[in-house]
Amino acid sequence: MSIAEQYRQVSAEVAAVCERVAREPQEVLVLAVSKTVGVEGVQQAYDAGARAFGENRPDPLMEKHAAFPDASWHFIGNIQSRRIKDIVPCADVIHSLYQIKHAQKIDEEAARLGKVQRVLVEVNVSGEESKSGLAPAELFAFLDECAALQHVQACGLMTMAPQGSRAVAKQCFADLRMLLAGAREHLAQAHPDALDGFDQLSMGMTDDWREAIEEGSTIVRIGRAIFA
Ligand SMILES: *Cc1c(COP(=O)(O)O)cnc(C)c1O
Repeated sequence: MSIAEQYRQVSAEVAAVCERVAREPQEVLVLAVSKTVGVEGVQQAYDAGARAFGENRPDPLMEKHAAFPDASWHFIGNIQSRRIKDIVPCADVIHSLYQIKHAQKIDEEAARLGKVQRVLVEVNVSGEESKSGLAPAELFAFLDECAALQHVQACGLMTMAPQGSRAVAKQCFADLRMLLAGAREHLAQAHPDALDGFDQLSMGMTDDWREAIEEGSTIVRIGRAIFA
C-alpha cells in the first residue's frame, strides 16, 4: 500500500476503535511520525489529509517544517540544550520534556520569539532503565517548576510503553491516565491557572495504539503503520 493509503487506513481504524470504546474520533490526534521518510513521503501523507507530523531530530524537523509550514509539527525526540533554539521556532508541541534546565531554556527561547511553547512531560511509567522520562514520584515538583515559566505551557503527559506485551503496554497507559488525573488534582490546588489545557495524553505507537485509545490517549504517535 502507498503512504497515502496507509494514512487513510490508519485514520479509519482510529475512528473505528474510538467508536468501539464510545469516544469521539476528534478527541484523538493521529500524529504521523515521519522520521523515516523525506519531504516526498511527508507530501504523500499530506495529500491524504495528514496535518500533524512528529519528528525526533532537529534537522529534519526544520527542513520539513520549512516545506510544510501550515502543518502542525511536533518534536518527539531526545532534547539537547544546544538545539532548543532550532526546535522551538518549528514545534507546536514538544513531547519529550523531563529536565528542568531544558524547560528553562525553552522558556527563554519562546520568550524571545514571543510565543508560548506547548510541551508534554515525558514520564517513565514502566521504570525500564532504557527509557527516558521522569519517575512518577517526580512529576508534581516538575509541574510546579514549569508553572513558574511564563512562556511554557504544560499540556499533559507522554510515555513510551515497553515493547512486546500489549497487556503490559495497556497497564502502562492506564497508569499514565491515573497520573494525569492526579496531576490535575495537584494543579487545581497548587496552580489553578495551569489546569486549563492540561489534559493531553500522548501515548500509543504502531504496535499499541489501540490499547492506548482504550485507555484515553489523545495523541497517538504512528510511524511504521503509515510510512513503512
Ligand atoms: C519513532 C517513534 C514513534 C513511532 O513509532 P512506530 O512504532 O513506528 O509507530 C513514536 N514515538 C516516538 C517517541 C518515536 O521515536
